[in-house]
Amino acid sequence: MIVIAKEIQTAAYLFASILFILSLGSLSSQESAKRGVFYGIIGMAIAIIATVFGQGVAGQTYIIVAIAIASVIGLMLARKVEMTSMPQLVAILHSFVGLAAVLVGFGSYMDPHTQTIEGAAHSIHLVEVFIGIFIGAITFTGSIIAWGKLEGKVRSKALVYPGRHAVNIILLVACIVLGVLFAQQEGTAGLPYLYIMTGISSFIGIMLVMAIGGGDMPVVVSMLNSYSGWAASAAGFMLGNDLLIVTGALVGSSGAILSIHMCHAMNRSFVSVILGGFGNGPVGVAKAIEGEVTSLNHEEVAALLKEAKSIVIVPGYGMAVAKAQYPIYDMVQTLQKAGKKVRFAIHPVAGRLPGHMNVLLAEANVPYDIVLEMDEINEDMPTTDVVMVIGANDVVNPSAQDDPASSIYGMPVIEVWKAEKVIIMKRSMSAGYSGEDNPLFYKPNSEMLYGDAKMSVEKLLTFLK
Ligand code: NDP
Repeated sequence: MIVIAKEIQTAAYLFASILFILSLGSLSSQESAKRGVFYGIIGMAIAIIATVFGQGVAGQTYIIVAIAIASVIGLMLARKVEMTSMPQLVAILHSFVGLAAVLVGFGSYMDPHTQTIEGAAHSIHLVEVFIGIFIGAITFTGSIIAWGKLEGKVRSKALVYPGRHAVNIILLVACIVLGVLFAQQEGTAGLPYLYIMTGISSFIGIMLVMAIGGGDMPVVVSMLNSYSGWAASAAGFMLGNDLLIVTGALVGSSGAILSIHMCHAMNRSFVSVILGGFGNGPVGVAKAIEGEVTSLNHEEVAALLKEAKSIVIVPGYGMAVAKAQYPIYDMVQTLQKAGKKVRFAIHPVAGRLPGHMNVLLAEANVPYDIVLEMDEINEDMPTTDVVMVIGANDVVNPSAQDDPASSIYGMPVIEVWKAEKVIIMKRSMSAGYSGEDNPLFYKPNSEMLYGDAKMSVEKLLTFLK
């Protein structure tokens, strides 16, 4: 087998790090995003080759076969996965990073070579192992719960019980005590402490994510992304691999920045979300919903649209599920030809991915200038004739503004109820992802238009054309 000289490996690592930074930079705009992904792929290929063929790596054939099998599985999964299931895939991939950090931690601790390290270096190594496994186990179980919530296998509502913060703090203190005891052991005698700490941190991971409601899940996904980066970085320290340290730090810090942005968009405290909703619980009893639900048929909605001068479309997760973006843009063009002002209003957490709606609308070639952010469009709501809410629910829920008992209270929403007429297009009266009922459906100026979003829009088009 070929063995790469240490100097060449260092140069390759440096080059790969630059490519990763370029990749992150390019991902910040839609025009350069594809180039960013390409930089990332090249960087990762260089990183893998430089590591596998580096000095002191044994069993390369096995590693290459394992990489080949995993690549085929990864390709098949990624090709099959629907855009709406992307967050689940991301969550499960984060769990793999967490698990890898745990396994590397145990492997590194039991490795006979590391037993010969002495003095301060030995203590530092033990701290790396302990912290790496701690972060890895939280990331592993937390990501599995996040996957379950996103996949609908675990209840999306927050699991809150009295005294849970006290329990978390006690568990954290227990881990610190275990860490001190672990660091005093010779050889591999600290293994029992590591096992107990792994169990406790796995439990903390489960409880932290279980305590977060569906509405706050976008922050959890980006936060776990950040944790997975720090877990990888910790693994890099244990393995003495500079590139893994740099890459992990890049993922960790960019994930943290994204989480802070998401928290800002949702009016949530970052610290509160990472501590499992600390001090942010719903207050009091849920407000009773007043009013009556009324609905229209497609012909009646088309008639309303023909009369309207100004129309705003609010897309949500249901549009993504129904793949309704293509007929929606057809409908927009038809309405524009009839002289109407039509715009889209995008909520920062609509759908299941940051920027989900923007990506789907860009896919259908909707021009950027008619796609407005929530803050830009909210002030125009009172002068809008018709708002069409297409497969959105939580992002237009007025409880976020007026019901402190709601789990989404405080989250900014698109104030569609201020328009003259609101048409809500969905299949039933079911709640949004947060599990909260929506009083919007009961407002006097709201009308339901039941049915699959794509089929409904196609039907409306036949009446409009
Ligand atoms: P919601 O999940 O609140 O609501 C979507 C609505 O779409 C449902 O009420 C459903 O009602 C309807 N729907 C589903 N399928 C169809 C279909 N085929 N045709 C028509 N309607 C359909 O979506 P929002 O976009 O309003 O809000 C996003 C939520 O997801 C927020 O709570 C957000 O915090 C959370 N989230 C966001 C992430 C992100 O990064 N953007 C990540 C993780 C969570 P019905 O069944 O009656 O049709």
